[in-house]
Amino acid sequence: MGRAIGIDLGTTFSAAAIVDEQQRARAIPNAEGMLTTPSVALWYEGAFVVGQPALELVQRAEGAEHDRLGASLIRGVKRMIGKPPQGGLFSNGHRTDPVEVSAAILAKLARDASTHLGFPVRAAVITVPAHFVDQERSATKAAAERAGLRVLQIINEPSAAALTYTHGQTAQAGTALVFDLGGGTFDATVLQLGEHEARVLATKGIEELGGINFTNSLASALRKRYEQETQSTYPNTTTASTLLVTAAERAKCELSEAQSTRVQLAPPQGKAVEITLTRQQFESQIDLLLFQLQIAVEQALERAKKSAGDIQRVLLCGGSSRIPAVQQMLTTFFGRKPEATLDLDLSVALGAAYQAATYREDPTTHTPGLQMIAEEGLVIDCVSYPVGIAVENTRGEDVKLIMLQPGDVLNTWSKPYPVLIRGTAATFPPIDVYSGEGTQLSARDYLGSITLALPPGTPSGARASVMMRQDQSGLVQVQITIAGRDLPGTLRRA
Ligand code: ADP
Ligand code: MG
Repeated sequence: MGRAIGIDLGTTFSAAAIVDEQQRARAIPNAEGMLTTPSVALWYEGAFVVGQPALELVQRAEGAEHDRLGASLIRGVKRMIGKPPQGGLFSNGHRTDPVEVSAAILAKLARDASTHLGFPVRAAVITVPAHFVDQERSATKAAAERAGLRVLQIINEPSAAALTYTHGQTAQAGTALVFDLGGGTFDATVLQLGEHEARVLATKGIEELGGINFTNSLASALRKRYEQETQSTYPNTTTASTLLVTAAERAKCELSEAQSTRVQLAPPQGKAVEITLTRQQFESQIDLLLFQLQIAVEQALERAKKSAGDIQRVLLCGGSSRIPAVQQMLTTFFGRKPEATLDLDLSVALGAAYQAATYREDPTTHTPGLQMIAEEGLVIDCVSYPVGIAVENTRGEDVKLIMLQPGDVLNTWSKPYPVLIRGTAATFPPIDVYSGEGTQLSARDYLGSITLALPPGTPSGARASVMMRQDQSGLVQVQITIAGRDLPGTLRRA
């Protein structure tokens, strides 16, 4: 009998986990024997090679082949998924897209998990950043389906992490802040912890702030130091840049443990030099990033109508939350030390596994489906950003109407909003749907449009009402009522 797993599909690392017979979530090792899989893919001999084997293909190649494969290695695809494409995405001559690459990563995780567990893994709970909008969630779901997985639910990473922190604890009521700083993104989430559940109050994310930014900031400092100390410019080749970023990445992680570290830089066609970097130098380099993180934490608190003093637990999550200056910033801000689990890289996958375990095989269906045991599962999540529609008001002006507010509980219909049907059954104009930030919808965040088959004979000018909700996975659903008849609207995603 198959059981469902939890998957953390990360920007830099991904992981899978399952709840064992002792009711504890355990990370599932991949084919290389590791608990995390680098989220990288390389098209090679007609298929995607994913994770460590892909990195090794690049490392083993030499000269021009090394450069070519290095440039073909797709990283950080999570930053692109569900967003408008910016030029074509290619790997080793193969034209691809973020969904296909994510599907390849998920397929490896599921395949390796199946091998390790000894039964085919067919269903999963998959995590995404809380700030992921509808298209990013639906594209992630599409990727999982392409990988042959049934998506039981898409849950927010901070909620998953909170489940890991609170699993098996009884005296846990109180308000917590999950501080999730990963490789490419940041989320601050305020949750109310109950005895068996975590209820999300508010969240604030920064989509483009993560470990990569810390590494890049250290890399540019290293480049300057190299140029000062060698009195020569740092070579401007792909290999030299990769070398610089790799050295910065290693130095950054070492500076989380030690007060100083030595970096050897010997780029091809350049001078060799050894540079000593101190933690203090690194910290002055990342001042601004720390400040941005603090502002986001303040905004999350403000959205939850809480102050720093209301927070009983600060829960760390994501590899970059190991940076001592980050923890120091939080200690100063909250006046208490943040908590860290044994393994910051796995807390999200473990939490997804706990949520996956609330689903079980459904004996009433012929296909081995899964059914949720508890109606809500373990986490009661909420809408993270406003969603609404563009309508014409009685004065004929276009206005944007917010229907879902941050903090609204998932799976709960909004109140109905009246709209006027213009046009006929054949020409019913689609209603545009937007998301936004804070309390504003933004024209930039166009989600798509609601299309609907009007019953024949519906007069132009008929009154209808629209309701909207986000389902358990944060996907937008709409329902339209005309003359007492419910018509499921379809959101055609942009
Ligand atoms: P994601 O979920 O975005 O894939 P992770 O939570 O796996 O990211 O975190 C990966 C990031 O954590 C990388 O940017 C990595 O450099 C950073 N990281 C891992 N260990 C350390 C450390 N000891 N000190 C600083 N940063 C670290
Ligand atoms: Mg992560």
